[in-house]
Amino acid sequence: PRILSNRYKLLKKIGKGAYGTAYLVEDLRSAEKFKVLKEVHIGDLDPEETVEAIHEAKLLGKLSHSAILKFFNCFVNLPSFCMVTEYCDEGDLDQAIQRLKKAGLHLPVATTERWLIQILLGVEYLHGKRILHRDLKTKNVFLKGGMVKIGDFGIARVLMNSVDMATTFLGTPYFMSPELLKHQGYNAKSDVWSVGCILYEMCAQEHAYTGHGLMRILFSICEDPCPTLPDRYPRALQAVLERMLEKEPQRRASARELLREPHLRRRSKQIH
Ligand code: ADP
Ligand code: MG
Repeated sequence: PRILSNRYKLLKKIGKGAYGTAYLVEDLRSAEKFKVLKEVHIGDLDPEETVEAIHEAKLLGKLSHSAILKFFNCFVNLPSFCMVTEYCDEGDLDQAIQRLKKAGLHLPVATTERWLIQILLGVEYLHGKRILHRDLKTKNVFLKGGMVKIGDFGIARVLMNSVDMATTFLGTPYFMSPELLKHQGYNAKSDVWSVGCILYEMCAQEHAYTGHGLMRILFSICEDPCPTLPDRYPRALQAVLERMLEKEPQRRASARELLREPHLRRRSKQIH
């Protein structure tokens, strides 16, 4: 088997995304054996940008929060950039939603609200450190011990810049905010929009904004009103969703504001 950086033994491929491939690895130099190594093809990224990407990725290693996937290490292994993170053996939120849907079941209201609060706490933590996630989606939220962990903020900003808009759309467009689509700039509120889309998917088991073909999806994001949650979810949660899926970023709530909103505050108290 391939061993990278003299330390990570590739055990199996666990997935392939738009930007790279994820492997389950064994860390030969740590008591915590199983980790995930994400290999992102950077090809001919110039050396200065590579240094900056490593520098930025190293900052991710300093993050510590129960709702943030632990980032352990990164290195260059041309033509790829490799990042090593915590492994979540319960998979991601997208898989969990699809599993329930196939079984004809729903995520209980209490679990939905608990996971939403955990995601918002993680996002509030990142935003407090002036870090934007930029790629929040159900596939980047992992499950471990009944808790959610936000991962994959991914590829550091510098790498993201080397990815053009066309490649961005190889990823999923469903969580992209109206301002991003209109090239009005990505900001903290754009992450909140994505959390709104995640909340809707946890409840309805389908995308918040959709359509046949990319253009229709983008049109739906920019023009369609906020979707309605199924009846089994409380009215107050619908109101929270509407504050996240506000089209105008200035009017959209921040993660911190949402956590202070009465319904979610009451739920947080019941959890802790
Ligand atoms: P994308 O997020 O674009 O789908 P990724 O390369 O990030 O692509 O992930 C590919 C797959 O690998 C995902 O379906 C995910 O379930 C799995 N995966 C990625 N990181 C982890 C992790 N830390 N723990 C468990 N599974 C992971
Ligand atoms: Mg991912």
